[in-house]
Amino acid sequence: MRIQGHVALGLCASAVKFAVTRNRNGLGPFLLANLLIDLDHLPSYWRSWGIANPLDYLQIGFFGRIVAGKRSGLTLVDIGAASRPLHSAVVLAAVSLVALRYSTVRPFAAGMLYHRAADWYAERSPNQINGD
Ligand SMILES: [Zn+2]
Repeated sequence: MRIQGHVALGLCASAVKFAVTRNRNGLGPFLLANLLIDLDHLPSYWRSWGIANPLDYLQIGFFGRIVAGKRSGLTLVDIGAASRPLHSAVVLAAVSLVALRYSTVRPFAAGMLYHRAADWYAERSPNQINGD
């Protein structure tokens, strides 16, 4: 799922949570975790393709391809599967276990799990090109 999809879904979930609870606590960490979990793609992109420019990464995240610069035209299909350690079941289970003990971690864990659920759903969509 692209960055804008995660932003939209995160804002929708936050709006629903606020509408139900009238409580803004945890919405910031939830939204941050929902977005920043995808930073785990960066080391893989850098190792495999030498992509170190954050603008290139943002173009890939928003458009599925680099649209400007010296790597213009490189697509997610070209890049292929990226290592995503923060998306792994082990990391998500560990963060969830910590969240059971520490309430301040819960919004971060919820954001990561929500993001992963959205990715999982998108990866199973027949029209989805990438599973970021
Ligand atoms: Zn993701």
